[in-house]
Amino acid sequence: MSSVNPLARNLVKQLTPYASARLSMSGGSVWLNANENALAPEYQLSGSYNRYPDCQPPALIQAYAAYAGVKPEQVLVSRGADEGIELLIRSFCEPQSQNQQGDSVLICPPTYGMYAISAESNQVRRTIIPLTAELTLDTEAIFAAPTPKLVFICSPNNPTGDLIPRQQIIDVLEFYKDKALVVVDEAYIEFAPEATVLSLLDSYPNLVVLRTLSKAFALAGLRCGFTLAAPDIINALKKMIAPYPLAAPVAEIATQALSSEGQARMRQSVNTINQLRDAFIQFAKSQPAVLKVYPSNANYVLLQVKDAAACVAALVNEGILIRNQSSQIGLSQVVRVSIGNPDEMALVQDALARYFQQQNASNNTANTNSQLLSAGAN
Ligand SMILES: *Cc1c(COP(=O)(O)O)cnc(C)c1O
Repeated sequence: MSSVNPLARNLVKQLTPYASARLSMSGGSVWLNANENALAPEYQLSGSYNRYPDCQPPALIQAYAAYAGVKPEQVLVSRGADEGIELLIRSFCEPQSQNQQGDSVLICPPTYGMYAISAESNQVRRTIIPLTAELTLDTEAIFAAPTPKLVFICSPNNPTGDLIPRQQIIDVLEFYKDKALVVVDEAYIEFAPEATVLSLLDSYPNLVVLRTLSKAFALAGLRCGFTLAAPDIINALKKMIAPYPLAAPVAEIATQALSSEGQARMRQSVNTINQLRDAFIQFAKSQPAVLKVYPSNANYVLLQVKDAAACVAALVNEGILIRNQSSQIGLSQVVRVSIGNPDEMALVQDALARYFQQQNASNNTANTNSQLLSAGAN
């Protein structure tokens, strides 16, 4: 990290920014490290851009409400779901100050890193309750923790790929009724649409659902996400959002993506990706060097290997980027492979198979060497 101006806030001097896939790895020609969708449609822009855009473009809000089956008053559009996370923290959590603890957010790792980073950059305390060994919520520990203002639940969870059991989400919503908002991040829900908790929105006024066009809709470059919640929550967020958060071309393209043709294209690409993912899981299970293949309900698969850093490095040498997720609480020696297009999947499977073979060969050499050494010592 380059030097930071000495006049900056102490918080800023101390902050470690989110190491996004794009920031932390570069080069290569096969990008399977950011859970993007490689099956990208093209869009046309129409107009001139001399006027300021709507803060919440009505056509886009209508389109997303219709797509999700909620009312327009329950929808906020922002620069990606990431801005939704930030707005929730800024709108609902009192920061720590010299004489006050402030509010806290509850986070269940291994999970998406931005909940903790957004909280930290807004000086909001984090309560960390790791998932259980079965990757479910540790509800007992959650309920024993000091009451947070926000609970973040990611389902399908990034980077593990599992779904959090619906009954657990309901239990958490019940427990925190009138006390805390329960934010369910459904960034990958189009890959497992039956698992959405949106139908709980009417019974639980403390439920917030995050969505994005970055994953299944193949529009990560657009920066467009949605927060779905009761109107009084949406209205609180609207007070904090920038006056012109979405560039007009973004709203144009997002609205096209949500047209019935756009939705049909998205569903087709989801089908293709789910098939490629299942084939990749088969491949990974056929490799003895893969110690564990995490089941996936999304467009990525987490693998446990002997040496995650070496595995990532071996693939980088072949121009293929995958992501090391080993630093997360509760995970060790794991790599996350995003599902790309068929050509990319053939390349990554080839490269992994060759790496595992070489690893095996050098293990055998090492074994032989140590046998020779111990033989010599005798
Ligand atoms: C990618 C991702 C997001 C961020 O989505 P954007 O709309 O691109 O900001 C949010 N949550 C999870 C779990 C993600 O993986």
